[in-house]
Amino acid sequence: MNALEARIAALIAVQGPISVAQYMTLALHDAEGGYYATREPFGAAGDFITAPEISQMFGEMLGLWCVQVWHDQGQPKQKRLVELGPGRGTLMADVLRAAKAAPEFLVGLEVVLVEASPVLQQVQAAKLSGSGVNVRWISHFDDSLTDRPLFVLANEFFDALPIRQYVKTQTGWRERMIVAKDENLDFALAPLPTPSAIIPASRAGAPDGGAYEVSPASTALVETIAQTIAEKGGGALLLDYGYGEESGFGETLQAVGGHAFADVLAEPGENDLSAHVDFAALAQAARHGGAAAYGPKTQGAFLAELGLTSRAEQLIKANPDAARTLLQAVARLIGTDQMGNLFKALAILPQSAARPPGF
Ligand code: SAH
Repeated sequence: MNALEARIAALIAVQGPISVAQYMTLALHDAEGGYYATREPFGAAGDFITAPEISQMFGEMLGLWCVQVWHDQGQPKQKRLVELGPGRGTLMADVLRAAKAAPEFLVGLEVVLVEASPVLQQVQAAKLSGSGVNVRWISHFDDSLTDRPLFVLANEFFDALPIRQYVKTQTGWRERMIVAKDENLDFALAPLPTPSAIIPASRAGAPDGGAYEVSPASTALVETIAQTIAEKGGGALLLDYGYGEESGFGETLQAVGGHAFADVLAEPGENDLSAHVDFAALAQAARHGGAAAYGPKTQGAFLAELGLTSRAEQLIKANPDAARTLLQAVARLIGTDQMGNLFKALAILPQSAARPPGF
């Protein structure tokens, strides 16, 4: 048992079983032992590789997407570009480089990185030190981001936000909780049934043992972003792994360490924890906030539509030696057996705005 697990067990001894959401928050963000709070998890030597780390083309496509959406809305001078969970800062560096193709976009632009981890904030600052753009950091989305047109990018951010889980039993729905038994953490169902208002009607057909997952932190954040975009203009592009219309009845909480699946409850803080993103719920939250939602569309179809393959051909012409690497990157990003199908893209725009590129 590691130190964080012992502290979680002590918390449960005092307060009783904790929700999956509270466990995720502690395992990911505890200041002393949390996964993101204490390390830099990305890359071949780390625990997982994300799209911007696979190829610069990913960030370039997203940068050009922002520029196009900004163009379509009359090129407002004052604007803000926000990235949620920027990891190593690679995506934002590629976005800003690509945006130099439209220098007016960068004039009057404030870049804000929303990052909970002090370790990763430093990594991002080093990466962006030469960008020539005004960048500031905050640990969570706040009111300082709501006063002007807002462009938001988030890649593999929402999968890290805490979820609550409910399981269908013969005696109704029960919340899945974390208990401590003989100092080991374990799952157990809450003894009391879940109030029926919490479970959506669409889940009525769930079999015994079927799950319902919900991320209140995700829907609340998307609604806030959508309100600002609806009122002030801009656009958000959210990419993540998850399901579109059909969310199935399986539970999706997973732990990954060293590029392999691990036990969710063993060694909290040592592995990344994440869950499938429910894009239908995010789209609904965006509409609730007064904005229009486009997608979700598969990442493969989205990037293909934006011209990822032509961009690769252009880069290969300039540097034929890199052909193999670039073609492999394209296959990883859009191949249906790789990230192309599992990952989805969702866009949020003002209702009056033109349909965004790629959708
Ligand atoms: N977007 C990056 C990194 C994805 S990993 C990429 O594609 O490579 C998730 C990122 O979100 C990390 O930077 C992590 O520290 C950050 N993060 C996770 N939960 C967060 C939260 N609740 N608030 C702010 N940042 C968070």
